[in-house]
Amino acid sequence: MSHFERMKQFLKQVNTPAQYLGGEVGIVVKPDEEVDLRWGLLFPDTYALGMSHLGMKILYGILNGIPGVAAERCFAPWTDMEAEMRKAGVPLLTLETHRPVRECDLVGFSLQYELSWTNVLAMLDLAGIPLLAGDRAGSDPLILGGGVNAFHPEPMADFFDLFLLGDGEDAVIRISEIALKMKAAGASRYETIVELARRVPGIYAPHLYEVRYDTDGRIAETVPIVEGVPERVEPAHIGNFEDAYFPTVTPIPYVQVTQDRIAIEVMRGCTQGCRFCQAGMLKRPTRLRSVEKIVALAKESYRASGFKEIALLSLSTADYPELPRLMAALDREFRDLRVGLSVPSLRVTESLKSIPSMVGQVRKSGLTIAPEVATDRLRAVIDKNIENDDLYAGMGEIYRQGWKAVKLYFMIGLPTETAEDVDGIIDMSRRVAGIGREINGSPGKVTAAISNFVPKPHTPFQWEPMAREEALLAKRERLMQTVRPHRTVMMKIHQTGPSLMEAILARGDRHVSRVLLRLFRDGSRFDAWDEGFDRSRWDRALKAEGVDPEFLLHRRREESEVLPWDHLGAPVSRAFLLEESARAGREERTQNCMDGRCHHCGVDVTECAPARKVFRQVRQAGEDSAGA
Ligand code: SF4
Repeated sequence: MSHFERMKQFLKQVNTPAQYLGGEVGIVVKPDEEVDLRWGLLFPDTYALGMSHLGMKILYGILNGIPGVAAERCFAPWTDMEAEMRKAGVPLLTLETHRPVRECDLVGFSLQYELSWTNVLAMLDLAGIPLLAGDRAGSDPLILGGGVNAFHPEPMADFFDLFLLGDGEDAVIRISEIALKMKAAGASRYETIVELARRVPGIYAPHLYEVRYDTDGRIAETVPIVEGVPERVEPAHIGNFEDAYFPTVTPIPYVQVTQDRIAIEVMRGCTQGCRFCQAGMLKRPTRLRSVEKIVALAKESYRASGFKEIALLSLSTADYPELPRLMAALDREFRDLRVGLSVPSLRVTESLKSIPSMVGQVRKSGLTIAPEVATDRLRAVIDKNIENDDLYAGMGEIYRQGWKAVKLYFMIGLPTETAEDVDGIIDMSRRVAGIGREINGSPGKVTAAISNFVPKPHTPFQWEPMAREEALLAKRERLMQTVRPHRTVMMKIHQTGPSLMEAILARGDRHVSRVLLRLFRDGSRFDAWDEGFDRSRWDRALKAEGVDPEFLLHRRREESEVLPWDHLGAPVSRAFLLEESARAGREERTQNCMDGRCHHCGVDVTECAPARKVFRQVRQAGEDSAGA
């Protein structure tokens, strides 16, 4: 009996069994005789989340489009399923052909958030693949990690053969070409890793680098130990975003997933320059898709899927320069089909005043806005280019358009934060609710969602210490006490424990791998979920492995200190990050470089030229029509 047949016998005993079956409409299953190289694309979280992830769909489509190459999906089994699989001795299987993941040639993990890393170990183990890269044999697949976490992966270095920094579209084609050649030539696993590290831009092979430490535990240097691999790995990136592959035909899930809709990436990169935002630094330069291209992709995706909602994705869709023209064009195409348009999160800008009417043509359930902080002073520190008055003016328009509820995102624990900044969160939330009363006669329904700031690698705040747990708890208590008597504002505050552990993983070095291993062995799974996170287990693991949170989190790093991710290049330069850090200290904002002058952030400015041209043209047209 096959592994899959045996798995079917216990499917009735687990939740949402259909997520483990595969066979969805839109999948690609290639006959074995046509496959020379097989990828497993693994997402270390649930099917519902992984099937909503656009990056996974892009790579699935690109790889399956290469003759001789197949890509098959696999998501983390929930704990009930993992227990049944282990009991029955069924290994981790792909959804397309139900073959064991360990039979793939390459296994690519999507690394999007640090608290999913323990699931990576659980999936490797369930697949029967040795956890430590050094223990793997020639028959084991190469294990590769991509996604934003690949820019600071040292705590995972022991478990991976390769990381891919940056855009995956062209890189996975290059990796496949080389892997195919090396396989045909009978090359060893080590030879293939070295060849990929030498020849594919963005590839980092951690075992080809040695980390040397000073006696005080700080890193002295991280250096290549094999000739021909880069001293500093620069990220891969695609220049022609307009024509980059976009998956209009994708597997259609049979079960409810987190994002049941067409999602189109309208813009890649963001140049707002918010100093806390890692994605904003890592995804530069800004690249745009044209309105015509986006509409064509939306039509094609609708024909293939029948979804009733189109989401316009990017780090800051409100900044897409031709958003009004895009929304109007999509509205013309889809209004009669009753397909809705959504913009996941709006920034508070001038355009906020016009966007709600466009988005709201279909649904007016709730709107998400991210002021991030509640005072203009702290907003200058983090370089979020808005003022409170803009927000209040925008909110008036939102209520006038018929919206009743709004979710406001904030952070606490930021550098230089004072009691006034924390209290401001409640004041701002109440005022936003009050604007609803002025306009509609009844207060708006406001949810303030508050997270704990984590100083992330490759940002201007990477040298800052993380706020201490006691300080975060005190702020949390202060917020809870203040909001309690107020019925129009609901508050959701993220727990401090998961944020601190996320920071340990994000900022850690190779010593932290021992903690991950212990956590996995002690039963850690789904740490990003309330059901999965167990603080006492983390404390035990840190203590047992002698990893000191004080050293990793709460000391300011000197500018001269070698950081665990310094050998991994981001698009932005260290000089730019230092300058931005200094400006934060002076509470100085930096103007958006799409609308103003270039700040020479480290990106090749010619790569930004096409987007800057569109921004300039749109601004000029606006000024001309205002002057007419
Ligand atoms: S190179 Fe200049 S224009 Fe391009 S992202 Fe950096 S600061 Fe902006």
